[in-house]
Amino acid sequence: MLTCKHTTRLLSEALDRPLSKREYLALRLHLLFCRGCRAFRQNIDVLRKVSRSFMGRDDGPN
Ligand SMILES: [Zn+2]
Repeated sequence: MLTCKHTTRLLSEALDRPLSKREYLALRLHLLFCRGCRAFRQNIDVLRKVSRSFMGRDDGPN
């Protein structure tokens, strides 16, 4: 079972890279039992949507 620290790190990494099947399953399992990490995931989902709509005109990291 993943720790909360590991779970939140994976959730952040999932924004930048595809998770392996094993990571994904471990993540899902942790989220089933952990309300704190579910809340964290919802927060980053919202943040991602908001930043996309605000950064839509950005051409890149420069
Ligand atoms: Zn957790």
